[in-house]
Order: sequence, then C-alpha cells, then structure tokens
Amino acid sequence: MEQERALLIENNIKEIVERVEAAKAARPMGGDVKILLATKTVCPEDILYAAERTGGVIGENRVPELLSKYEEIKDVGEVHFIGHLQTNKVKSVVGKVDLIESLDSLRLAAEIDRVSGNLGIVSDVLVEINIGEEEAKGGIMPSEAEDFFEKISVFKNIRPVGIMTMAPKCEEKSEYRRYFRKTYEIFLDISKKYLYNIIEPVLSMGMSDSYEEAILEGANLIRVGSAVFGQRTYVTSESK
Ligand SMILES: *Cc1c(COP(=O)(O)O)cnc(C)c1O
Repeated sequence: MEQERALLIENNIKEIVERVEAAKAARPMGGDVKILLATKTVCPEDILYAAERTGGVIGENRVPELLSKYEEIKDVGEVHFIGHLQTNKVKSVVGKVDLIESLDSLRLAAEIDRVSGNLGIVSDVLVEINIGEEEAKGGIMPSEAEDFFEKISVFKNIRPVGIMTMAPKCEEKSEYRRYFRKTYEIFLDISKKYLYNIIEPVLSMGMSDSYEEAILEGANLIRVGSAVFGQRTYVTSESK
C-alpha cells in the first residue's frame, strides 16, 4: 500500500474514533459501540490495515466478493454478511461468517436454518427492519417485527441476536434521528420479549453519513465504509 493511502485510512479512522467516543459520552443509555468496516470494493490489504486499527469487525455485502476475498480476510476477527442474501447463496455463506445481519424473510430464515443444521452449527442472525417502510428496500416492516421474531423462534439452528436497519437517505443529518429512535424502541421491545437470553443484543445502525446520530439513539454497532476508505469506485462487472 502506498504511504499516502495508509495515512489517509489512519487519519480517517482517528477522526471516526474521536466522533464515536464523543457521541457515546453524550448519550443517556451508555454502553459500548463496535465499529464494523463495510468493505465492499476494498482490497484485502486495505481491509486488514484498517481492521487492525478498529477492532477487527468487517462486513461484506455480496457473496461472490466475500468468497473471492475470504481466504485473506477470514482471520480478521469477525466477518459479517450485511447485504441482501438470496436463498440460493445461503450455502456459500453459512459457516463462513460470524453474523448474518440481513435476515429479511421467512424463506431465508428457513434456508439458513436448514443449511446450518446440515453443518451441525447454530447461525447468529440480525433481523433487518425496513424502518423507512421503503418499497425498494428489503427488510421486515416495523409493524411486523414482533410477529417475525415469533415465527423464526421455531428454527433451532438460527439464533436471532438483534436488529439491523438501513435508514432512508436523508438530506439533513438530524433527520436520521427519528428513524434511529424508532428502531431503538423496537429493539428494546424485541430484546425484552425475544432476546432475554442474549447477553448483549446487537443494534446495528448508522453508516458514514449518520453514525453519530445512530450512536446518540442507541446503536451498539455502526457500519462505516466510505468514511474510512474514501468514495467507492465501482467496476460494473464486480458490482453484482
Ligand atoms: C456499504 C454499506 C454500508 C456503509 O456505507 P458507507 O456509506 O460507505 O459508510 C453500511 N451498511 C451496508 C449494508 C452497506 O452495504
């Protein structure tokens, strides 16, 4: 890696860590916050460099890209899957990642359960909530969250450990807070009813443009990509 690139990543991380600490100190609910590096389009060398400086949690969101980088990144600490997961790709992901953050249908839950059972493992998952109730986005509608947790409780080879959300794109940073606040309320309710045996239920929300707002509203896992690595340059053939 060029020295200039290394310095950029290091300085970006320094700034994020400072902001994370400040937001943590300013919130009423206290608690810790983990930083997940969203590493789509980022090469393994840069991922490992950044992960050493942020606690070692990373997230990939496309199956082919996860698989192509897997051997180089698998010992980083924790690897999460954070993108939409098609049922026909479940068998490539289960057993490889520590947490699937994007459980968004019963069909997907059934398939993760089946594949995990075949491997003799229990897979940790987060239920993705579509907090902005956007047509084009995946995720369980807020009003259906409780019913969904009830229904997936029959699957013995998956273990729900929390909630993930992607807020709608907002013009003003402050607008994010109401989405995150609403997600936090759902999280508290679900934690009490369905996650009482989980030591630290996970609330994954906030990205590069909104992680401070998410922390102020109770996130304990934030997912940052461009704020660490710079703007992504997509190569069309790799982008799906
Ligand atoms: C890319 C991505 C992020 C991070 O986005 P940035 O704006 O680059 O911080 C977070 N979550 C998911 C699911 C992503 O795909």
